[in-house]
Amino acid sequence: MHCPFCDHSDSRVVDSRASANGRKVRRRRECPSCERRFTTYERIEEFFPRIVKSDGSREDYKREKIRRGVELACTKRPISTSEIDEVVDNVEQKLIELSRKEVSSDWIGSTVTKELRDLDPVAYIRFASVYRAFNEIQEFLAEVRELDVDEPSRE
Ligand SMILES: [Zn+2]
Repeated sequence: MHCPFCDHSDSRVVDSRASANGRKVRRRRECPSCERRFTTYERIEEFFPRIVKSDGSREDYKREKIRRGVELACTKRPISTSEIDEVVDNVEQKLIELSRKEVSSDWIGSTVTKELRDLDPVAYIRFASVYRAFNEIQEFLAEVRELDVDEPSRE
């Protein structure tokens, strides 16, 4: 690992810490040349299941695809980029925990929907209306009634 300050070709790890879920490792490094310290993050490469679409075709899992859907649902809502990342991280975490070779796109859609429900009522409704099949209007109305319509308080 090159030093970002003096470009020395080596660095010494002075501390390593795994994140709570064990999927990322934070390392403090020290340059033996200029003695400055910097931090690196290592992310474990995951093996994601393939996604089975509603027409039965399969495609590779793509984080960007989920992220775009979430971003779209959160347009003009008081939601930060890191909150969007957290939604996608949570969905990925659950996807990995399933430990299956294939997962339906419906599962992805309903998992994202649940995450958004906790985050923002408008983003939730937007996402749900696109990705989730509300078979009966009653079910949809019940969902809407259950929502807390107050704006989430934010500083
Ligand atoms: Zn250096």
